[in-house]
Amino acid sequence: MNEPVSLPALSCADDYDPNSMPVDKAREVIGRFLSPLTATERVHVRAALGRVLAADVISPLDVPAHDNSAMDGYAVRHADLKADGEVTLTTVGTAFAGAPYAGTLDAGEAVRIMTGGVVPAGADTIVMQEHVKASDKRVTIGGGHRKGQNLRHAGEDLKTGEPALKRGRRLRSADVGLIASLGIPEIDVYRKLRVAFFSTGDELVSIGTVPKEGQIYDSNRYTIYAMLERLGCEVLDMGVVRDDPALLEQAFMRAAGAADVVITSGGVSVGEADFVKELLNKLGQVVFWKIAMKPGRPLAYGRVGEAHFFGLPGNPVSVMVTFYQFVRYALLTLSGETPVEPTPTFTVPCTSALKKAPGRTEFQRGILTRDDAGRWSVRVTGEQGSGILRSMSEANCFIILPTDQGNVTPGTLVQVQVM
Ligand code: AMP
Ligand code: MG
Repeated sequence: MNEPVSLPALSCADDYDPNSMPVDKAREVIGRFLSPLTATERVHVRAALGRVLAADVISPLDVPAHDNSAMDGYAVRHADLKADGEVTLTTVGTAFAGAPYAGTLDAGEAVRIMTGGVVPAGADTIVMQEHVKASDKRVTIGGGHRKGQNLRHAGEDLKTGEPALKRGRRLRSADVGLIASLGIPEIDVYRKLRVAFFSTGDELVSIGTVPKEGQIYDSNRYTIYAMLERLGCEVLDMGVVRDDPALLEQAFMRAAGAADVVITSGGVSVGEADFVKELLNKLGQVVFWKIAMKPGRPLAYGRVGEAHFFGLPGNPVSVMVTFYQFVRYALLTLSGETPVEPTPTFTVPCTSALKKAPGRTEFQRGILTRDDAGRWSVRVTGEQGSGILRSMSEANCFIILPTDQGNVTPGTLVQVQVM
């Protein structure tokens, strides 16, 4: 479990207004209280994709292990060649990948060598096969060859004892291959972050239940489930919990006892927040913010018991935006990943007119496309209501409009963040 960390009077210690919390400030405050996992487990390299290294992977060997040829050609002694003019050497053997030449090259000798073949003792230079005239036992080579050319040196990529991968790295496909290339069968990784989540709301039913009048299907739990799966978390789906203090208290206690992180959706907006606030302050330390952003204004953050807690808004788009903008970074950090790179943003022309009021950061949903000439631009998905989940589904990026930005006219450069 995580170390208990107190959020000393979080809501008044800082000089900010919880009713208009800037996005960056909220991120910074959350960042201060993240205590990464320390528990580790050993996994086979095949099970390592997406896991976070708990220790450096140290190379037990030189890579490559031997001086070897980068080309198909002939291994020679540079001293035998002429600066200009031809020499003819005797071909004394072959060095193929996996089948080295056993002898040492003497003056006037060459060895036929293939890419990856071990450079024979005595040889210091490889001449490409395209640059020679060869017969059965002889090879004629012209001038102009550099000593050491076309040769890959032992330990050139990695020396014995050097870290091949650093602690905190989330392993990608290439890393899995790299670990295997060192002959390492198992590695130490942090255990997966356990995240419990539930939806709150009397109006919600889960798929499989027919909604009665006024009820809607719970989508947030499925969105959250999918986003957590993509981040490599161990998920604990606790279903829908009614807006009932006793049931909510039970759910929070159970979630906090079982997981490192608890995520809820709904119940933090004005009107609903009051009894949730009371409850959470009894069970832990939680702050309620109205973030100066659209969508995703209400956000609760803190601790329930020893678990980290994120209370996301109820609206389906707000859930995703707050998850991407606040929760993702926190979960990756808690998983032991370091450094956690922010999701890249870049600047492209926007072909739509956008309505935007200064005073808050907006995350509009955009479609980034490329024209026939290869130029990228972004247009907004249709309606931007925070209940319209289809706007997220159609989008492949956020258009991030900073606090001071007003309306956007077509052709203006905007910042986009690929999802
Ligand atoms: P709340 O923040 O609980 O007031 O919810 C705000 C809006 O989001 C309401 O229209 C809710 O019906 C809707 N909503 C809340 N939770 C969910 C959910 N899990 N799935 C879909 N819509 C939800
Ligand atoms: Mg609700």
